[in-house]
Amino acid sequence: MTSIQFENVSKSYGGVLAVDQVSFDVPDNAFFCFFGPPLSGKSTILKLILGLETPDSGEIFFDGRPMRDVSSPDRNVAMVFQNLALFPHMTALENVRFPLVERNIDEATIKARVAEVTDKLHMAHILHKPPSQLSGGERQRVAIARALVRDPVAYLMDDPISALDARLREETRVELRRMQQDMAKTLIYVTHDQEEAMSVSDQMLILEEGRVCQIGAPHDLYDAPNSTYVASMLGSPAMNMASAAEVIGALAKTPDINQSTSVVGIRPEHLTVACKDGPGRVTGIEPLGATTILSIEAAGVAWKAALRGQPEHSIGAPVELSVDPGALHCFDAQGKALSAA
Ligand code: ADP
Ligand code: MG
Repeated sequence: MTSIQFENVSKSYGGVLAVDQVSFDVPDNAFFCFFGPPLSGKSTILKLILGLETPDSGEIFFDGRPMRDVSSPDRNVAMVFQNLALFPHMTALENVRFPLVERNIDEATIKARVAEVTDKLHMAHILHKPPSQLSGGERQRVAIARALVRDPVAYLMDDPISALDARLREETRVELRRMQQDMAKTLIYVTHDQEEAMSVSDQMLILEEGRVCQIGAPHDLYDAPNSTYVASMLGSPAMNMASAAEVIGALAKTPDINQSTSVVGIRPEHLTVACKDGPGRVTGIEPLGATTILSIEAAGVAWKAALRGQPEHSIGAPVELSVDPGALHCFDAQGKALSAA
């Protein structure tokens, strides 16, 4: 039972402020994801949690207890290293047993602990195999089981599956989510892949240059980004962004836009595209199967629309764009979200 809390934590290296006044609260048993571009401070936050780095200012708490004077081993947080760290000459079972054998724990305790963990992770059928005969997802399960037998208070993973190919990544993240639920432990996960962050986490924290931009459930951040930065980090294709004048010029029906709006955002799936004479022209068509992405030029702006199925459109054809007024995101000149238009 461990919640992890940061209170105004800062950490700099030389002149670089890697983590800037960061506060968050990871609830117990949550799948919590840190998401941001390279160099935004994600790994530094993990090192601060692990106790490999000390904050310059601010405080870190585990279950309300300050960690300032608690050494890294005493924090009992497990960094889960990925499949490369499995011993190739050992079976999955030997790999999982290893941390306990290494600590000279008695055989009866090892057996009981390993059985409990491997049952929980549904691994009976792979225990006799060496890593070379396991799929990427299975190897990950072995790596997690090996960390789990130590019974840490939380697991940390730093961009663990970025090296895998797209299909394996998909399989692995579904598996990760299931394992986290099976083991009912806090899992802190770092990624720079938005799809991964959105698909696995209960809550995500979006970072920009060491600062917290927004924290929340993935769908809340997607539906109500508090800035143009957060809006542009989530969703593929990215949210369309244009000035109020451009939006008015591009849409068939003039929307009601708040006076202080500087930038208007429209998600590609919220644009309706009608095949009739209008200010838009189709400039590109990408049929992806379940959806089709249309590139449209209107009012001097390049728009992306995500349409269901394979609608009939042709390059160069005129189109009319419309949008449900509730789907407009309005931002001020600093890029901060304004409440409803
Ligand atoms: P991320 O994991 O999001 O890519 P990092 O936490 O690794 O980001 O880095 C955040 C910032 O801190 C970067 O500007 C990076 O160059 C700097 N930084 C991180 N670790 C060190 C270090 N050991 N020495 C100097 N600068 C560092
Ligand atoms: Mg990193």
